[in-house]
Amino acid sequence: MLKKYVYMFSEGNADMKDLLGGKGANLAEMTRIGLPVPPGFTITTEACNLFYKTGEKLSEEVKKEIYTYLEKLEKKTGKFFGNKINPLLVSVRSGAKISMPGMMDTILNLGLNDETVLGLAEKTQNERFAYDSYRRFIQMFGDVVLKIKIYKFENLLEKMKKNNGFEEDTQLTAEHLKELVKQFKKIVKKEIGEDFPQDPKKQLLMAVEAVFSSWNNPRAIAYRKYNEIPNDIGTAVNIQSMVFGNMGNDCGTGVAFTRNPSTGEKKLFGEFLMNAQGEDVVAGIRTPKSIEQLKEISPKLYEQFVKITEILENHYRDMQDIEFTIERSKLYLLQTRTGKRTALAAIRIASDLVHEGLIQKEEALLRIDSKQLDQLLHPTFDTQALKQAKVLAKGLPASPGAASGKVYFSAEKATKVAKNGEKVILVRQETSPEDIEGMYAAQGILTARGGMTSHAAVVARGMGKCCVAGTSTIRVNEQKKEFIVAGKTYYEGEYISLDGSTGKVYLGKIPTVEPSISGYFQEIMQWADDIRRLKVRTNADNPKDAATAVKFGAEGIGLCRTEHMFFNEERIPAVRKMILSKTRQQREKYLAELLPMQKEDFKEIYIQMGERPVTIRLLDPPLHEFLPNQEQEIKTLAQSMEVSFDELKDTIESLKEFNPMLGHRGCRLAITYPEIAVMQTRAIIEAAIEISLEKGWKIKPEIMIPLVGSVKELQNVKKIIVDTIDEILQNKKIDLAYLVGTMIEVPRAALTADEIAKEADFFSFGTNDLTQMTYGFSRDDAGKFLREYEEKEILDQDPFSSIDQIGVGKLVELAVKLGRKEKSNLKIGICGEHGGDPISIAFFHKVGLDYVSCSPYRVPIARLAAAQAKIINK
Ligand code: ADP
Ligand code: MG
Ligand code: MG
Repeated sequence: MLKKYVYMFSEGNADMKDLLGGKGANLAEMTRIGLPVPPGFTITTEACNLFYKTGEKLSEEVKKEIYTYLEKLEKKTGKFFGNKINPLLVSVRSGAKISMPGMMDTILNLGLNDETVLGLAEKTQNERFAYDSYRRFIQMFGDVVLKIKIYKFENLLEKMKKNNGFEEDTQLTAEHLKELVKQFKKIVKKEIGEDFPQDPKKQLLMAVEAVFSSWNNPRAIAYRKYNEIPNDIGTAVNIQSMVFGNMGNDCGTGVAFTRNPSTGEKKLFGEFLMNAQGEDVVAGIRTPKSIEQLKEISPKLYEQFVKITEILENHYRDMQDIEFTIERSKLYLLQTRTGKRTALAAIRIASDLVHEGLIQKEEALLRIDSKQLDQLLHPTFDTQALKQAKVLAKGLPASPGAASGKVYFSAEKATKVAKNGEKVILVRQETSPEDIEGMYAAQGILTARGGMTSHAAVVARGMGKCCVAGTSTIRVNEQKKEFIVAGKTYYEGEYISLDGSTGKVYLGKIPTVEPSISGYFQEIMQWADDIRRLKVRTNADNPKDAATAVKFGAEGIGLCRTEHMFFNEERIPAVRKMILSKTRQQREKYLAELLPMQKEDFKEIYIQMGERPVTIRLLDPPLHEFLPNQEQEIKTLAQSMEVSFDELKDTIESLKEFNPMLGHRGCRLAITYPEIAVMQTRAIIEAAIEISLEKGWKIKPEIMIPLVGSVKELQNVKKIIVDTIDEILQNKKIDLAYLVGTMIEVPRAALTADEIAKEADFFSFGTNDLTQMTYGFSRDDAGKFLREYEEKEILDQDPFSSIDQIGVGKLVELAVKLGRKEKSNLKIGICGEHGGDPISIAFFHKVGLDYVSCSPYRVPIARLAAAQAKIINK
């Protein structure tokens, strides 16, 4: 049997997204459950892949099948392609498996030509409508298929309006539109040297090819990269008979969300325009009406619409994003999909759906993108500062968040200056898909036109970016790089602040405050905690981070890096003197100076953590990192050490290493300079004793030895630690429980984990070093080539941000197995960057780790990701 590349909507269903794309599968599903969908058919994603395989051409086989289905569509609609009396018009719509809003191209009114336009006018008794549709078609086809710059058409349209003193497109008469069609065709002739194609079948094939090609346009590629959508899944194309929202005042078009996509509130949320077609609402050409106003125009239609939205939400059991068109008072559905939402909305909707009995808690948790929670952990504006700030304007609260930055008026410039570390607010009349990169780069987006479902609003919400849209009181001049509000002009580079939750635009930079977890967020986190097995700790080396992490639900510290404490301005002189000491005695003298400070650090951290476990790692970095390299600094240091400048310089020089990351660092430091480990152990233990006594707590410190590769290294350093502790406890006649464990970050440690486990109370995978050493990629140099590795598909993703499960992961798995074979209750965690990455967390759950440890701001993400891992692996 021949492969089937085309399906009628009536042949498909919602489960066929791989083949029919999201749009096609849902059009089929809506058809299947009896909703009013204009008939059509879908050309599959496999046809798209075939298209790329055969040199970006449609094969004869696929073409033939398209014609067969075109005939079926003619039969179904009773209209005929290219027919002068009763012409069939279609839309050609892209639609990949995963929705990529506005990323690829759509063409409406295909099938019109100089003859069918007459038929359409005659049949509808509406010449104005017919020519309006024709000029739209030439414009879209010109843009998408013929690659003619769209502004060439738009300028003519604007000129026509201006010459006649019109404000809105709808004021143009049939005569004006006829003239525009003439002008548009002239543009086409001039640009491509050929007449606008008149044969509808040729139009159709050209359009299908263009949609397939649009899969690889730069903005679609950029979107996929940012959203981690594979490049090889291809797009489907939907050919659908047209319904017209632009036929008169009993027609219209709109979009709606079944719940508020910004806050999650359970309230129909939508916008529409009467006498308009397709993209008009989203493109922000006129400011649309809110969906409630449909009631005023037709209570019956409104009621019918509400009912359909309820059917859809119950059917899909999730918030839906719906496109509809009204043709002569009849309602049609053109699209439904699970609506994109902010993190705020995501948690509220998930919680509400559980309470409404539509879904279970587990499903609710799976529906929240853990990475997206990041949005809720961003700071908000300080309310005191807000009161004093000057409000410049108020627009629509299109996407929540608090953003301050310098104003830029083009996506290009925004991207450029953001690369140099500048905070940017992108200000546009309205945004279009070309602006995507600039939107990614900006802190927030401000537009003058467009509603809550405009391009800027939808895309910003998808990105979790702050956006204020439709701020009609500001006048933006993108060419002059300025905007005017209340008679005053503001220029490129000026600071403004946006509050995406209120829609207010402020002058200047406004300070922010830290977020907290409460309400719906708290509830969802509670559910996650009830389910997950993995514990979540944090990486923190100071009391402030420790406190933040505890507030976000951290159950302990998995990694406290002691070196950060050494860089402190007051301490670095003593640290340097210690490192440059010639004798042990000298070193001990300076270490004694450091001891009280280091002890104080630990006491403060213990106070924040209460009785939660705290893992403290002994000094790890190459000592050279602490030394001065400027002449002046060396001079001062030499003076205070009472040695000559040259001598000191020589010593510093002699400490330089060719490969410091593989050099004298980690446990190698403790082995050569045991006195450093002694001082640190003292500080850790004495601090624990003092706070335990003071607070009546039982603090059980966990001392961690870095960079161990052989059990003998561990034995050596462990002995130093244990002897030191024994001495302290004996002197004080006191008892204190503690653990001595090791990092597993050298491949040899993973390979010999059974031996190492004999000496270790716990393991903690240092996946940064483990990745570095397993791949042989220097983390500090890999940036230069890793990007290219990803582009050339040698690597799927950066192994330093998401764990390489196949290679590095294999070492982790092996070490867990060997370690637990030796010591079945061995406590094992991970404290590398990967501890906050949801995909890596799922892996760590699977291989049986006890906890992950990540930066404070990723703790809530890890809590949710750990619950999701458990649910999926049930
Ligand atoms: P996008 O993915 O950019 O939303 P769509 O394919 O959904 O592109 O179409 C763009 C616009 O055209 C939408 O507003 C849609 O509702 C409208 N549209 C698409 N097909 C038809 C049709 N057959 N009749 C009327 N309007 C249509
Ligand atoms: Mg759409
Ligand atoms: Mg390390």
